[in-house]
Amino acid sequence: MNAGKNLKEGLIALEEDLVKLNDELQREAQCIPNLTHPDVPIGGEDSSTIRKMVGSVPKFSFPVKDHLQLGKELDLFDFDAAAEVSGSKFYYLKNEAVLLEMALLNWTLSEVMKRGFIPLTTPEIVRSSIVEKCGFQPRAKNTQVYSINDSDQCLIGTAEIPVGGLHMDSILAGSILPLKYVAFSHCFRTEAGAAGTATRGLYRVHQFSKIEMFIFCRPEESDYYHDELIKIEEDMFSSLGLHFKTLDMASEDLGAPAYRKFDVEAWMPGLERFGEISSASNCTDYQSRRLGIRYRPSEALVPGPKKSKGNLAPPQFVHTLNATACAVPRMIICLLENYQQEDGSVLIPEPLRPFMGGLNVITRK
Ligand code: AMP
Repeated sequence: MNAGKNLKEGLIALEEDLVKLNDELQREAQCIPNLTHPDVPIGGEDSSTIRKMVGSVPKFSFPVKDHLQLGKELDLFDFDAAAEVSGSKFYYLKNEAVLLEMALLNWTLSEVMKRGFIPLTTPEIVRSSIVEKCGFQPRAKNTQVYSINDSDQCLIGTAEIPVGGLHMDSILAGSILPLKYVAFSHCFRTEAGAAGTATRGLYRVHQFSKIEMFIFCRPEESDYYHDELIKIEEDMFSSLGLHFKTLDMASEDLGAPAYRKFDVEAWMPGLERFGEISSASNCTDYQSRRLGIRYRPSEALVPGPKKSKGNLAPPQFVHTLNATACAVPRMIICLLENYQQEDGSVLIPEPLRPFMGGLNVITRK
């Protein structure tokens, strides 16, 4: 009986140690970035390579306006009131810009759902521990993450975080993989350290709507699904008639969680340059290790005398991938600037028209 009592007390102490050690392990894990895919170009931003180029720089027979000027003339935004109400880098969308946002979101959602993705809306406030396990650093100096005072919660910078957390601490049946989700959320970013970069108008704001794709899959399939995600993005940007390039991002631009990252940059005529509109990352098991997401490869029995539960292959970490399907503000920049007409109106690309009640042009009031 005494031995039993001692064991119980010992166990309590060991369990407390385990919690502390787990915390320490998580902290150490945060310092270690993912490995990189052998084909990733080594170096800084300039070392990224072009995987694909679609279309060419559009030619205009009249002086081109940027989205700020077009928005002012067509009464589509109010940055001044937003600056008073919320601060700089906030905006009100007005009139047809609101319809355009809704059309972009609904069209994107329907396109991605057609490809077998499960739709989700997500919490937009999450625990800081989940943010950290996904590879973001809410506590770092100059963090991109807004933390909520007197709580252990943060505003999400991307739906990748709540979707990543959806299956945490679980063992999924191998038969349900791949799990493909398409999630709508608002995104909140401090944009600390962004001074000096292109920040005009809608390009870099503190709050925006985004549709995000997210896949949980078997390790051996993540390269395949990474290609599938970038193909979906390219198909959608092509059907909107954009001129864009897909980049294989260089090692120094990957961030901690990504093993490989493909960014898409589209031509923005008013800004007279390419601007990043989306990003697709293969995070392999970086997030799943920290979030505790495993799967049981049920059909993969390890060699043994008979097919019993005893010789089932042990659970393994899934791989996770995420990709932007549509980040609204930069898509609005692309559409206004690329589809402007000489008379100051803006054409709506064909695929979005049914989602705007048949509207095909935005004209001056
Ligand atoms: P990320 O999750 O950082 O890869 O961003 C995904 C996409 O969201 C980018 O490709 C941009 O189109 C868009 N985006 C990121 N940050 C901002 C921001 N501060 N303002 C507007 N759009 C943004």
